[in-house]
Amino acid sequence: MTSTSVPKTNSKGGFRSGASLGLRYDTPVQFIKGVGPKLGDRFKDHGVFTVQDLLEWYPRAYEDRRAARSIASLKPDELVSLRAEVVAVKSYNLGRSRRKVYDLVVRDETGKIHCKFFRVPYKGYFERFQPGSRVRVIGKVTFYRGQIEFHHPDVQDDAPDTVHDDDIVVPIYPETEGVTNRQLRKLIGYVLDELAKNLDARKPEQLPRWLLDSLKLPSRFEALGKVHRPPKDATTDFAALKSPYHHRLIFDEFFWLELWLASRKQGVAAEPGLAMDLKLESVEKLRASLPFALTGAQMRTFQEIANDLTNHRPPRPMHRLVQGDVGSGKTMVALLSGLLAIENGYQVALMVPTEILAEQHYKTARRLLEPLGITVGLFTGSIKASERAQAQQLLASGAVQLAVGTHALIEDAVGFKNLGLVVIDEQHRFGVHQRAKLKAKGKDGEYAPHFLIMTATPIPRTLAMTVYGDLDVSIIDELPKGRSPIQTRVGYESHRPKMIEFVRAQIAKGRQAYFVYPLVEESEKIDLKNAMTEFENLKEKFPEAKLGLLHGRMKPDEKEDVMRRFRDGEYQILVATTVIEVGVDVPNANVMVIEHSERFGLSQLHQLRGRVGRGEHKSYCMLMLGHAVSEEARERVNVMEETTDGFVISERDLEIRGPGEFLGTRQSGLPGFKLANIVRDARILQEARDMAFEIFSRDPRLSAIEHRPLREELLRAHGATSLASIG
Ligand code: ADP
Ligand code: MG
Repeated sequence: MTSTSVPKTNSKGGFRSGASLGLRYDTPVQFIKGVGPKLGDRFKDHGVFTVQDLLEWYPRAYEDRRAARSIASLKPDELVSLRAEVVAVKSYNLGRSRRKVYDLVVRDETGKIHCKFFRVPYKGYFERFQPGSRVRVIGKVTFYRGQIEFHHPDVQDDAPDTVHDDDIVVPIYPETEGVTNRQLRKLIGYVLDELAKNLDARKPEQLPRWLLDSLKLPSRFEALGKVHRPPKDATTDFAALKSPYHHRLIFDEFFWLELWLASRKQGVAAEPGLAMDLKLESVEKLRASLPFALTGAQMRTFQEIANDLTNHRPPRPMHRLVQGDVGSGKTMVALLSGLLAIENGYQVALMVPTEILAEQHYKTARRLLEPLGITVGLFTGSIKASERAQAQQLLASGAVQLAVGTHALIEDAVGFKNLGLVVIDEQHRFGVHQRAKLKAKGKDGEYAPHFLIMTATPIPRTLAMTVYGDLDVSIIDELPKGRSPIQTRVGYESHRPKMIEFVRAQIAKGRQAYFVYPLVEESEKIDLKNAMTEFENLKEKFPEAKLGLLHGRMKPDEKEDVMRRFRDGEYQILVATTVIEVGVDVPNANVMVIEHSERFGLSQLHQLRGRVGRGEHKSYCMLMLGHAVSEEARERVNVMEETTDGFVISERDLEIRGPGEFLGTRQSGLPGFKLANIVRDARILQEARDMAFEIFSRDPRLSAIEHRPLREELLRAHGATSLASIG
């Protein structure tokens, strides 16, 4: 969104006189009247380079002066703006640690409240606050140990001239070093006035008229003006970012993403695919050999896949996402689909995130498919060089029909003879960009292989619409019969003896148990030591049992050996770090103990819990909490007691952690939204998605005059390749 174009100098060679030059969206901020190089640099530090960036520096809240808040009236979780007087600034150490807490105490006529900071926002920040000075505090009210407080609120000087007295709803910008709210309000107001004078300098409306009319959206320019300068009659909805103007700007952020996804989807559909025939002989043989009947949801999903593979003329590559809760039997669906491709004479790749999982799938596939005369190969990083060369040769010749492996499968050296189907299992972090890489493994240029993606974690619908927005979706919404829900309990230190006795009783009945310890990167060494020490402790506590230890630092063959012994029932207890998080399937194991459960995300806990409850035995999950756990963490873990529904859990997880962390920031490929929030604005996201897809169905090449701006914007933002299909 930035531009480096420099406006022409005026006759005196100066840049400062914005008015005479005529401001444009792409004018660099330092050329705005009153900004200059110094403030310009400050803006750049915050990613604001141009007039457009400045206009997209949206208020994060509004102060509604009709609803002035008193400290006594605050409730947990509210986002509020408060005027108060500084009482004191204190600092002390957090518990016995060396971490410092800064505590700014403020009061009004109704009471006092603590504003806590766990780091210093910037040098000299706290020196600004002298007892008695007036401030405005903006932030979310937090409930901690029985009282309300603020954590890292915005605290601003409440100078009397900050606000015009006749303003009723006042925008509040995220405060940043060296740029005050007052400056921002003035500057943005000036920019809006200048742009209003000069119609040509504004970016023309990019969205087609029919779209704006049908959604009753204001123009972008009007919306920008209003969110920065709220109208006098602004309602409380306005202050809650729910005005038509906010709607318009939020819509825009989603719309451009969805338009890109829609163009990608159309592009995929236009690629040459592989035509397969509905050959079901081996599929039927496999079904007949299973000790159980497929669930209705497994059947339906397989049919949807089979339809993608066989029913399109001309053929186009499948890009389908299968979402199914843990234990819903996704592997079986993958194998059935693989059989269909193999029977058509094509090779299949099954890719998983970990070696343990690769080994497990390899075993399952061999057990079930070799009797049907199908050759299965294993491709992981730890296979010896000599064996690897041989395996690669078998793959290149077409002798291996199903290749199971990790990322090793997409190494350059690995070539297929005729790859027809790629299944990516348990990789919810496999975004749009990674998939593009795998596609190159198809036969060069002739066709694109079919893609099937199976997710470990049910993804909230809203998120699926962004990350996986270019895929078709099947949902396995049924668990195999006879599974009773996993009984889950949150436990404290005082419950430990009882927990141990419970595990002992289960082992005596012939069952097996997992003990899982967190392993987070920043304290990896300490954590690992903990897992190892606990392993020794548990050995003493369970003299009657054999215990195995599994962690990420072990060599792959050691890991596999431990896993095998646990699967074969030689070990009754497996002590592990989160390496067992995804996919591991040992139906006889029915107890999952998770230590320090407060340190895991909800979706991760759900995954871990999903390692039990996979067989006919009643299963149990115990979530142990460490000492001094925050209220928030406790609440989060409690969600696990309330529900076993992966979709509910993932929605809650997304709410609590936000989309970036939920998916892992780097891998997600998710754009940072400036105003939009996919949880709060889910409805607008759906609307933007519907519109984007409707545009492509009306005008697949975006050739209508009113759609040209869309086409140009896509080209500008994503380059020519993104528009391959539009031509
Ligand atoms: P996930 O969806 O978590 O990948 P899996 O494919 O690992 O689930 O299946 C979980 C367990 O359920 C496996 O032991 C598998 O053999 C078994 N299973 C799969 N489908 C069925 C079914 N229809 N009925 C009973 N058990 C099934
Ligand atoms: Mg699985």
